Amino acid sequence: MKFTLLAHQVRALDMLRHSLASGKRRPMLQAPTGAGKTVLGAAIVEGALRKGNPVLFTVPFLSLVSQTVERFAEQGINSVGVMQGFHPATDADQPVQVASIQTLMRRKLPRASIVMIDEAHRWFDFYGKWMAMPEWQNVPFVGLSATPWAKGLGKHYDDLLIPTTTKALIAEGFLSPFRVFAPAHPDLTNVRTVAGDYHEGQLSDAMSQPVLIADTVATWLRLGEDRPTLCFAVDRAHARKLADQFEAAGVATGYVDMDTPPDERQLIGERLKHGQIKVVCNVYTLTTGVDWDVRCIILARPTKSETLFTQIIGRGLRTAPGKADCLILDHSDTTLRLGFVDDIHHDHLDMGPHQKSNGSRKDRETPLPKECPACSRLKPAGIRKCPSCGFEPERQSAIEERHGELIALKGRRKDKREATHDEKQRFYSMLLWLQQDRGYAPGYVAHKFKDRFGIWPHGMMEHSVEPDATFLNWIKSRQIAWAKQKKKQEAAHAA
Ligand SMILES: [Zn+2]
Repeated sequence: MKFTLLAHQVRALDMLRHSLASGKRRPMLQAPTGAGKTVLGAAIVEGALRKGNPVLFTVPFLSLVSQTVERFAEQGINSVGVMQGFHPATDADQPVQVASIQTLMRRKLPRASIVMIDEAHRWFDFYGKWMAMPEWQNVPFVGLSATPWAKGLGKHYDDLLIPTTTKALIAEGFLSPFRVFAPAHPDLTNVRTVAGDYHEGQLSDAMSQPVLIADTVATWLRLGEDRPTLCFAVDRAHARKLADQFEAAGVATGYVDMDTPPDERQLIGERLKHGQIKVVCNVYTLTTGVDWDVRCIILARPTKSETLFTQIIGRGLRTAPGKADCLILDHSDTTLRLGFVDDIHHDHLDMGPHQKSNGSRKDRETPLPKECPACSRLKPAGIRKCPSCGFEPERQSAIEERHGELIALKGRRKDKREATHDEKQRFYSMLLWLQQDRGYAPGYVAHKFKDRFGIWPHGMMEHSVEPDATFLNWIKSRQIAWAKQKKKQEAAHAA
């Protein structure tokens, strides 16, 4: 072997071996940023070659083909052929074939004893058809992904291997620790959700308000410590506005999007490295900043996607000499919504909308972070004293809490009969839809459910359903009742 494997990489190979030995044929290997996915992939390829097994390595984009070949070469794997147009490395006789899914869809599939699927969280229906072909039933398909959390992956892959986690990699010094500040809370109430994430056009408009752009730059000037910074925007228009504002404030700034040619991208990386530019505004791509020494991330792109969030923050978690931590300026409320990236964890693959579930898809063990009201540092729930500024909030007064409960009790409508489980589920699903659509805190669903039925939700499925008029009227009536009650209370206080 031409490379030394780290403990978690050895563990990954062991887990994979056991999975295949136990009869699994569609294992998914989770390798977070910093776990050395390339080295792992190369080690698996090398293991197969030693046994004389040809390997087919697939990537989700044409642009990743050459990069993959280069990385294999770095690991000493040279018996590689490429399937892609008239690529100079075309050689069908080589035991390792690298191909994009787009090419494979149009060609006769080559023979292989093992198929590796890189960036496997990106699902293509073609994979499903391929995996289902009789002649491929016994051939292992190994998925590789830092974030194998896409909906329905569990219907196609039969095992999830987690040899290490972001938290463990930080603790072991393979990744940089990070600090998050949430200096702004954008209003996204009018931004719709499409396919699980914010509607991009509406999001771009919401985030492009001059006051938000100006605040992003002002915050960086105040907190950014002049660090080499990657700023993530919603789309090109938004990224350009941010870049212009940084330039206007006298900060040397670069700009990258998916159409920036590789050599220009590399030049921008060099300039960032040498301090000639401080901030690079960009729209997320698979390749931007992968190996740059980034010490501050500006997240100006709100997302509901744990995958996108994790990939963006991952850009700042590489270790480097003299780098104590990564500073994250989250202008998107994403950390408050999804939690710290190293707290995002799924024990199993998602089984799609009809999955059997114990009521929770998110298997979240850690409560969401809390914001320090003095300095906007996000701290783990339960930590009262701010690790940044030392501020310690006073405990909420018991009277206030009692008032809250009183209102809820008094306002609750008494149903003549007990609601059925299906009715409760439907109500729950509509609450879930509303919470996701309006970006309310996750606790909203349980509280509103209790408000309606007098009990906390239990055994509900986590799928959302678009609210009907009756439901929306009820929500509205509760808001009105609450507002009236509050007014009365304020009047009483004033008297
Ligand atoms: Zn603080």
